[in-house]
Amino acid sequence: MLAKVFKDFYTPVYMVFNKIKAVILDRDGVINKKAKKQEYILSKNQFVILPGVKKAIAKLNSKGILVFIVTNQQAIGKKLLTKEEFHKMNSYLNIEISSFGGKIKKIYCCPHLKEENCPYRKPSSGMIFELMKEFNLKPNEIVFIGDSFSDYQSSASAGCKFVFIKSESDELEENINKFKEINANPIAFDTLYQAVRCISN
Ligand SMILES: [Mg+2]
Repeated sequence: MLAKVFKDFYTPVYMVFNKIKAVILDRDGVINKKAKKQEYILSKNQFVILPGVKKAIAKLNSKGILVFIVTNQQAIGKKLLTKEEFHKMNSYLNIEISSFGGKIKKIYCCPHLKEENCPYRKPSSGMIFELMKEFNLKPNEIVFIGDSFSDYQSSASAGCKFVFIKSESDELEENINKFKEINANPIAFDTLYQAVRCISN
């Protein structure tokens, strides 16, 4: 019985990660603790890396998988967050990850407001298309790991595989309901580390 449960659980995860070359991570809620709804992470001091994240990224790299971040930061467009402060957070993140032997290959960020309808802003797929072009990657070589329905939409429109992280946030239920509305049932984990651990064996 236990073996059957394990097999049912393991098989689809193995298939998702099989032969992939890159993992794209959403940032807030996957890598760092998310701000409250309608609030933003505005400084390095508010940027708290979630448990297991550094280890997870190093583990992906050790399998030869490139790791990217694709993030919407409309706080920049709202002039609440400066680009300098955003880069400070990125530098801090890179240093922390490198201390575990990992590396973020590139961080893609859309600073525009929702109302601007930028083709790069998730749920659109502009950032993923740019990344695929720049690094010569095909959609089926990529797994997108995100904690919101808009990550799923962005990933699905680009043709990538998707893994959902059920990060603790005010929006978790809202996101789950959106998946239910379209009968989507993505593979889901509580944390990035749990997701990545499934491919390390
Ligand atoms: Mg997020």
